[in-house]
Amino acid sequence: MANTAIVGINWGDEGKGRMVDLLAENCDLVVRYQGGGNAGHTVENEKGKFALHLLPSGIFREGVVNVLGNGVALDPENLLSEIREIKARGVTITPENLKISERASLLLPWHRALDALEEKRLADRPYGSTKQGIAPFYSDKAQKKTVLAGEIRDLDRFMAHLLDLAEWKNLTLTKVYGAKAVSEDELREWVKACCEPLLPYLCDTGALLQAAQDGGKRILFEAQLGALRDLDFGICPYTTSSNTLAAYAPIGSGLPSAKIDRVVGVVKAYSTCVGEGPFVCELRGEAAALLREAGREYGAKTGRPRRVGPIDLVATRCGVSLQGATELALTKLDVLGYLDSIPVCTHYRIDGKRTDRFPFPADLDRATPVYEEFEGWRCDLSGVRRWEDLPAAARRYVEFIETAVGCPITYVSVGPERGSIIIRK
Ligand code: GDP
Repeated sequence: MANTAIVGINWGDEGKGRMVDLLAENCDLVVRYQGGGNAGHTVENEKGKFALHLLPSGIFREGVVNVLGNGVALDPENLLSEIREIKARGVTITPENLKISERASLLLPWHRALDALEEKRLADRPYGSTKQGIAPFYSDKAQKKTVLAGEIRDLDRFMAHLLDLAEWKNLTLTKVYGAKAVSEDELREWVKACCEPLLPYLCDTGALLQAAQDGGKRILFEAQLGALRDLDFGICPYTTSSNTLAAYAPIGSGLPSAKIDRVVGVVKAYSTCVGEGPFVCELRGEAAALLREAGREYGAKTGRPRRVGPIDLVATRCGVSLQGATELALTKLDVLGYLDSIPVCTHYRIDGKRTDRFPFPADLDRATPVYEEFEGWRCDLSGVRRWEDLPAAARRYVEFIETAVGCPITYVSVGPERGSIIIRK
């Protein structure tokens, strides 16, 4: 396996974590290149069931070096509690297998507060933020009001930089939102408790990745969220604040010259969407409740019930193209085993016209789905491990999807555990 990116094709929660955990077996480094602690990558393997937020999903594999690249929103508080929690469950995490980019910007104590204050101000028009401070973090980074992780090495200078930023940020907190200012004492406490412990993990990860590339090592890039949440190409403004596309992986990882040989796009066998924004295939009522329960569709980070619907091939085709996917992993096929007939959205209708093109975000509100029905298989697929052992109706469903989106489906998962996977040759 050469350099591989594992990315989301839709709205996120496609099952990227389980695919990274699986494919990390054949790689040397796993790099998270964007997003932050708002991720919820669920992994189930011989060590247990884990929901990873910032840690790369290669952390369970012996000999794999896990990297948090310069593009991530490095939340020291959340990262430390995650390290503690995962270590307590018997997973080895040391400066040998976890490297934090010295160029990663720190999510600062005011970012979470600002995120919550702005969602509260928006009242009944929220963006659906997870309130982890991600949007304020990336806006401040773009304004250069940011602190790089490597600055922790010089504590006096680091503290002075923080106080300088706090003076500016407290104006917004107190005068715009009428909230409490962040005090110097709070900042000092935060530095001691949350930043200093990160020192041993800091690394020039750009140099590390360059050396790995020069030495022919295999790098796996792990994305958060999906193509439709990409800051530039997604369903603005209901996107995340970073670039979720594989094209960004070289930059956010710290190796801008990296060539990605393989892009594995992860697609769920039906649609889910967490938070606000247009969701053309949304089911409601009992049909939605049944699918949500069958797929246990509740956010890994927030516990929020996910919105659900049939697979949306218009959105999926768009995601495949944006990601430049060379192959697909179709996850959660087992979940659809309760249905006699399975709808597939093949087109949208907008202003009376049929289209297979994903529209401009503002036009999504006028789009309605056009469905084609597929025969269900009405059985439990969780024990199936070979393509030829899948019921014919399930194979037809998978084959229809890959033809319609123009990308081969090389993995089909039928359960959350690492081994519940069909690998197609
Ligand atoms: P990610 O953020 O893309 O990694 O996805 P999430 O972890 O948020 O959501 C995927 C959920 O589906 C997790 O709870 C997984 O354990 C679960 N999952 C993944 N693949 C399968 C599968 O093939 N079948 C079933 N039933 N569950 C799966």
